[in-house]
Amino acid sequence: RGGDPVRTIPFNRPDSLTRVYAVASGKGGVGKSSVTVNLAAAMAAQGLRVGIVDADVHGFSVPGLLGITQPPTRVDEMILPPVAYGIKTISIGMFVDGNQPVAWRGPMLHRALEQFLTDVYFGDLDVLFLDLPPGTGDIAISVGQLLPGSEILLVTTPQSAAADVAERAGSVARQTGQKVTGVIENMSWLALPGGERLEVFGSGGGAAVSGRLGDALGYPVPLLGSIPLDVSLREGGDNGRPVALGPDGGAGDDGRGKIGTVE
Ligand code: ADP
Repeated sequence: RGGDPVRTIPFNRPDSLTRVYAVASGKGGVGKSSVTVNLAAAMAAQGLRVGIVDADVHGFSVPGLLGITQPPTRVDEMILPPVAYGIKTISIGMFVDGNQPVAWRGPMLHRALEQFLTDVYFGDLDVLFLDLPPGTGDIAISVGQLLPGSEILLVTTPQSAAADVAERAGSVARQTGQKVTGVIENMSWLALPGGERLEVFGSGGGAAVSGRLGDALGYPVPLLGSIPLDVSLREGGDNGRPVALGPDGGAGDDGRGKIGTVE
């Protein structure tokens, strides 16, 4: 250990097969963390080896969304992350008492992220997600520096303010040299009982972000999908069981019973 942290991070080894996605948004409350855990859960359910680094240090929510109450365990100098629904997860929330706010500043946050990436034993992963804090702050830049090969997934709502966000996210991507893989629009509509779609937050934000980023970056940044407002998605988050896993008690699923640590 020691030396250049970027080289010590296993995901930066030339032979690493892990796809690293940093999930970003321009502002809070758009569903970035919900999208992260549901993507991770869906991939893990398909048999992929998946990890999440909750880098939303001020607003960490991943442990709650996955129902994790167990702390990480330490073995020698390594930290073994708790596992829920097959997802190895590490979060600042696991290192603070109760609901204490984290009042750290840039350099400490950078160091915490670096430590998550160097000292947490994820083993071989197919996919690692980083749940970034909202906005284009220090952590977004740190992620780009510490994981130069990581790609950015942008989450936005349909609201038109989303377009400004796109420009800022695009400039971070250019600065860090990261690829923006695509845009996911969340809270796109509410299905009414009669079958109509009510566009609670307007429309077009995802397409606007996709178009503007594509123009700014000079390569296609596709709109990968649109997710409706959905009560079961919110309930799944509140209950610590991602809605993407389907109804509780499904075949081969023992819900929260799956939570444990890496063997
Ligand atoms: P962010 O990470 O962007 O701050 P969260 O994922 O924490 O956002 O979501 C904010 C709140 O909105 C949570 O209470 C979550 O359950 C809810 N939410 C997110 N997406 C949806 C959706 N598509 N339908 C219903 N509720 C949602």
